[in-house]
Amino acid sequence: MPLAAYRKKRSFAKTPEPRGSVSKRAKTRRPLVFVVQKHAAAHLHYDLRLELGGALKSWAVPKGPSMNPAHKRLAVAVEDHPLAYARFAGRIPKGQYGAGIVAIWDRGGCRAPGARSRAESERMIRRGLRAGTCSFILSGKKLKGGFALVRLPSRSERAWLLIKERDGYAKKTKRV
Ligand code: MN
Repeated sequence: MPLAAYRKKRSFAKTPEPRGSVSKRAKTRRPLVFVVQKHAAAHLHYDLRLELGGALKSWAVPKGPSMNPAHKRLAVAVEDHPLAYARFAGRIPKGQYGAGIVAIWDRGGCRAPGARSRAESERMIRRGLRAGTCSFILSGKKLKGGFALVRLPSRSERAWLLIKERDGYAKKTKRV
C-alpha cells in the first residue's frame, strides 16, 4: 500500500490535506505532473513531487530547486503522496505532521527525455529512480527543461541531489 506511510503520519480529521487514493492506471494522455510546494514548516523547505504509478514520488529539498546547473541541491526522499496532493495548498494546523503553510511554488508536466508516450515516461523514470540516476524534463513556469536526480552513494538510501541539466533553459543566477 504505497500511501500507508503518508496516511499513518496524518490525522485527516485535523489536517486539510487530502487523504487521497492511488489512482487507477490512467488511460489519459495528459502528461505526468510535477509540483513543487513551498512548505513553511518548522524549517522552510520545498517539496518536489513527480507523478508515478498513480501517486506522487516526493523529495524534500531544503534549499529548493535551482535553474543553475552548478547548484547541486540535496533532495531527501520522503513518503509517496496521493496524486490529489499536487493541487494542495493551505495551512496544516499546529500539532499535525508538517504543521505550517503549504503553497504551490511551481507545477506543470514531466516527461522522460526521448519518451514517446506517458507510459514510456513512467517506465523510464521508474527505471532511473531504481538505478539511482534519473533524468526528466519539466515544463513548469519556473522550472523548465532537463533535470536529474542522482542518489548519493555512501549515505542513506534517501539522500539524492537535484541538478539542473545544461540546456537552453539553464541559468547562471543564484536563485530561480
Ligand atoms: Mn514538506
